[in-house]
Amino acid sequence: MARASGLAMRMVLFGPSGAGKGTQAQMLKDQLGVVHIASGDLFRNHLRLGTPLGRQISEYVNQGLLVPDEVTIDIVLDKVMPLMSAAGFILDGFPRNTHQAEVLEAKLVGEARGLDKVVAIDVAEDVLVGRLGSRYTCRQCQAPHAVAPGEKAPVCSQCGGVLYQRPDDAPAAVQRRFQVYQQETLPVLEFYRKRGLLAEVSGVGTVEEVYGRVTAALGLGPAGRPSAKPSPKPR
Ligand code: AMP
Repeated sequence: MARASGLAMRMVLFGPSGAGKGTQAQMLKDQLGVVHIASGDLFRNHLRLGTPLGRQISEYVNQGLLVPDEVTIDIVLDKVMPLMSAAGFILDGFPRNTHQAEVLEAKLVGEARGLDKVVAIDVAEDVLVGRLGSRYTCRQCQAPHAVAPGEKAPVCSQCGGVLYQRPDDAPAAVQRRFQVYQQETLPVLEFYRKRGLLAEVSGVGTVEEVYGRVTAALGLGPAGRPSAKPSPKPR
């Protein structure tokens, strides 16, 4: 897909599991040419490859618990910090507690490239439960797909890879992830609200409708360009 503007925005997409962060991040990445860094995808790659780190984190991920900060912060910052200072990025799934938010802020502000915006996607819990129950994920590229109950999971629409149901999308793990989100992750909203970085949008509706709200919250026009601002009136 075309990289429209090359706008170097640095942003966090925030929200509970199933809110659609991954889908929206992929669309923003295609439109803006920014780098998409999803902490969950990084972890699942280690699980898939059976690395020592994968073995260390598998219980946390499969049960829907947060991976300890000392592992998580390193794995994400290892992707963010080498980016050129002019590069834009989307963080998806990180930060998930205030300590992660503080460390990220200290690192980015230390290099004069703090976040431009945090967009929180809000969806009611009963809707999320339904979405996660029918979610199949590509083993290869991690793209999420909705598959109706009883329907055979097709192959991945993005890369033709095999689809599977994530163990942490099973009902018990989903409940645990919601609890963790309420207790540990929601306070991160306040952290960013206080800094004037937060925009909240509804995640209900079609993918395109939600995308319209996300881009509006980022101050982008339909093609990912900054919205035209009226020129100041001459005095
Ligand atoms: P996600 O794909 O974002 O739903 O993440 C899947 C799982 O990866 C989570 O349930 C956690 O076990 C782990 N994980 C992802 N991001 C983080 C994070 N920022 N902090 C701790 N654990 C994380």
